[in-house]
Amino acid sequence: MEYQKITKQPLEQHATKPNLEDYQTIREAFSWDAVSRELDWFDSEHINIAHIAVDAHLQTERRDKKALVWESTKGEVEEYSFADLARLSNKFANVLVNETGIQKGDRVFFFLERVPEIFIGILGTLKAGGVIGPLFSAFGPEAVNDRLADSRARVLVTSPALIKKITDILPGLPNLEKIIMVNRKQAPDFSGALAYEEAMGRASESFEIVKTGKEDYAIMHYTSGTTGKPKGAVHVHGAVVGHYATAKYVLDLHPEDTYWCTADPGWVTGTSYGMFGPWSNGITQVVYEGGFSARRWYKFIEQWKVTVWYTAPTAIRMLMKAGDDLPGQFNLDSLRYMCSVGEPLNPEAVVWGQQVFGMPFHDNWWQTETGAIMIANYPIQDIKPGSMGRPFPGITPGILDDAFNELPPGREGNLAVRPGWPSMFRTYWEKEDLYQSRFKNGWYITGDRAKKDEEGYFWFVSRADDVINTAGHLVGPFEVESVLIEHPAVAEAGVIGKPDKIAMEVVKAFVSLKEGHEPTNELQHDIQKFVMKRLSSAAAPREIEFIDSLPKTRSGKIMRRVLKAKELGLPLGDTSTLEDD
Ligand code: ATP
Ligand code: MG
Repeated sequence: MEYQKITKQPLEQHATKPNLEDYQTIREAFSWDAVSRELDWFDSEHINIAHIAVDAHLQTERRDKKALVWESTKGEVEEYSFADLARLSNKFANVLVNETGIQKGDRVFFFLERVPEIFIGILGTLKAGGVIGPLFSAFGPEAVNDRLADSRARVLVTSPALIKKITDILPGLPNLEKIIMVNRKQAPDFSGALAYEEAMGRASESFEIVKTGKEDYAIMHYTSGTTGKPKGAVHVHGAVVGHYATAKYVLDLHPEDTYWCTADPGWVTGTSYGMFGPWSNGITQVVYEGGFSARRWYKFIEQWKVTVWYTAPTAIRMLMKAGDDLPGQFNLDSLRYMCSVGEPLNPEAVVWGQQVFGMPFHDNWWQTETGAIMIANYPIQDIKPGSMGRPFPGITPGILDDAFNELPPGREGNLAVRPGWPSMFRTYWEKEDLYQSRFKNGWYITGDRAKKDEEGYFWFVSRADDVINTAGHLVGPFEVESVLIEHPAVAEAGVIGKPDKIAMEVVKAFVSLKEGHEPTNELQHDIQKFVMKRLSSAAAPREIEFIDSLPKTRSGKIMRRVLKAKELGLPLGDTSTLEDD
């Protein structure tokens, strides 16, 4: 189906004047040096992310502004101003230095629920010159073990509920010297750990932030593991220039905004845009401790009058599944701008946003490795549903052939980016060869396939590993999945190439249904017919199988390699990031 362009109003008609007023002008005038100068560097070579995110506001009118409003799953609320975060993160930095002896460059990992202490702890660690490594609280012991062992973390910040999951792995981690236990109201029940509350009580409120160099390591994020073993992408303090600029121009954050990023701090979105991007812009953000629930999420937007909302395709598809009538039961008038990242955003979902919220979801593309948004839809620009948008000013992406030469518009190929932007990863932790192998012919090769149209909009095709080769045609699963979910009975779809003697591969779709639909043969034929009409015969699935839910990573991405392994009866490979329900 052809989707109509969603045209944006002229600049004067925006109720909130967009930060990016004119794409072309800003793109031409953009320089990373110039944006850098908007931030409070120690000197031309030294910058610290936590200083930029928090302490830099202390001499301004934002000092007592709310930085973090947190709501627990039980409905308790805690509020922290920038001054509060500065003071508490100073204390935590003192705890680390005085009670664990960490030094610049040491890794401090966080295996913690989405509680205020994870924000305070991360800021404090950065102030002390440590390298943070956030872990998703739903990880099992193996996933935690892999990451702690690989990074040789010296300190782990965790909680009584979570340590229970990992007590067995602790003896096998010789580098892990100290555990800091955030008890909150739970009774401490693990001996040998430093109690966060007690240590914070002893710690001084003043701390001299370590004047880290712009190239000093700051953040380690293991990638989602959608396609293989997670790798530790390492980012530097200078990355905050990228977080700041993209949060300003893509998320369009304004001083009066109340911003909600639904990503867990365990993923790069949860730090780049759940901490550093918004706070370096001095923005108030609201955080909900719990996971997805359609009703709870709408209520959260209503209650806190969220204005800017950053979420993910899988959540949007689940909201769509929950029904079009549900949002009407809440007052969502505060919303003015919605963005999405993490997976391709089906055009159907973009348009659904327009129908249900009166505004589209703005898709943007980036990776753990890029550290910040690279390609995006902006408030001022027309949206072509299904497109990731246009390059961020200061970013030069290209579509390359397999010899790594740039292709003209309209041709599909490898999505690459010219290296050198501030938030680019600086290595895969202790896998320098793997890191180097990602650079070819003066480009960073992203591992995704895409194409660019004549107007400079980029269109995601698939992960290079997911491309299906059927009778000589290359088919991207996303294209097929997007058509499948246009069918009224289909909630989600995952598409793979199934080996075939004649065609090499045939397209096979796994489909989960919306409530009220039964997996009958009739429905299967109906879906097949529906897709046939809309897609080339090569791309139309030869087989459709109904399943209750699709295997996804904990960040919500469809794991096609797991579907494929199951289909072929092969070992599932690394599933440490697989959701278990
Ligand atoms: P691994 O590299 O371990 O397989 P991963 O690639 O899922 O894991 P992330 O860095 O979290 O780890 O995800 C980035 C990838 O997610 C991108 O390379 C792309 O494949 C996909 N992605 C993210 N945003 C978008 C988007 N807006 N449109 C299409 N794909 C997206
Ligand atoms: Mg990846």
